[in-house]
Amino acid sequence: MLVFVLNAGSSSLKYQLINAKTAELKASGLVERIGIDGILKHEVGENKKLTFELPIPTHKEAIELVLRILTNDETKVIDSIKEIQAIGHRIVHGGEFFKESTIVTPDVIEKIEQLIPLAPLHNPANIMGIKICQELMPKIPNVAVFDTAFHQTMPKENFLYAVPYADYTEHHLRKYGFHGTSHYYVSNEMVKILNKKDSKIIVCHLGNGSSVCAVRDGKSISTSMGLTPLEGLIMGTRAGDIDAGVIPYLMEKKNLTSNQILDYLNKKSGILGVSGISSDLREVIKASKDGDIRSKITIEMLCNRIKKYLCSYAGLMGGVDAICFTAGIGENSDLIREKVCNGLEFMGIELDADKNKIREKGNREISKKSSRTKIYVIPTNEELVIAKDTYALTKTK
Ligand code: ADP
Repeated sequence: MLVFVLNAGSSSLKYQLINAKTAELKASGLVERIGIDGILKHEVGENKKLTFELPIPTHKEAIELVLRILTNDETKVIDSIKEIQAIGHRIVHGGEFFKESTIVTPDVIEKIEQLIPLAPLHNPANIMGIKICQELMPKIPNVAVFDTAFHQTMPKENFLYAVPYADYTEHHLRKYGFHGTSHYYVSNEMVKILNKKDSKIIVCHLGNGSSVCAVRDGKSISTSMGLTPLEGLIMGTRAGDIDAGVIPYLMEKKNLTSNQILDYLNKKSGILGVSGISSDLREVIKASKDGDIRSKITIEMLCNRIKKYLCSYAGLMGGVDAICFTAGIGENSDLIREKVCNGLEFMGIELDADKNKIREKGNREISKKSSRTKIYVIPTNEELVIAKDTYALTKTK
């Protein structure tokens, strides 16, 4: 059962061709700078890497190119597009409409369109991805997998903002949370390792965008991102939690429009804004080792914020069986994991400094034997979840 997984962004798209039954990754890639110039990086299996630089004016041409590469004599992994049995799309915002993945119908597209005001950068590109696939591969079913769906189990007391209630009922103002597919995958791996159903897990998805999620008995009960991905942790270029009073203050002081202040908080803040060096944490860690004070402060702020969420979620759940680190920073930075966990021994959270430094592929434990809370690194695999959901929904067709 081959599933084509597509994550269409405004000027890029990521794809994977996966055997959903065996989890075998046949090929994957990334098309960037669509409409600007165009670059396609394609990988077959673990070793074969190809790069194509050529004009890619539209998303349609990008997908056509990917399909050609998958089936072309020299680069092929399948003989014909007909071997693709379904297409799974990553959709950022499913609002309150979608609590799980669903087969794409005209009604589903209409609902994703209705949600554009909540995800103005992402949902239009996601819809475009679906429509192009319908045009290029009309006989193949499409499935929508939502970043928000896993968090639809959050109880009201954890998703409402403390503002007049009518703004929830009339304007859908609430926390939705994102990275749901990743939080689901990682917590589900952890549930299997713990081998118990009534589990209390905290997942730290720390990448360019970052969020924390409290998962009780396999269900999201609270998460750090909100109405938009701007809330919560300090991220590559996002400020995360901030006093709402900052917004009118800065708008007046710097004469900014609402779009400009959003741009400031989304694209100029976070690791980049405080360090003044980069949004890439590797560069900031390097600068801090070379003595740069602002980089040191950035790292402290980043870790303190994660710690704050960890402790608050452990409190909400009345304890924590396991903490999982995932995504670019969570999987690769022993420094950040150490700084986050250090000082939490009083809660039964004991990191093993040596295990934490070992770099290995796959799920791995990094807590001491004596630690009441297990600490794990679990590499995320959102595409596999999308492929499996797509398979489950389309296999009888
Ligand atoms: P995205 O959210 O775009 O998918 P990733 O999950 O790939 O992002 O994470 C990207 C982040 O991971 C970058 O800030 C990068 O600096 C960070 N990162 C990757 N490897 C390391 C490392 N060894 N140490 C620290 N940070 C790392």
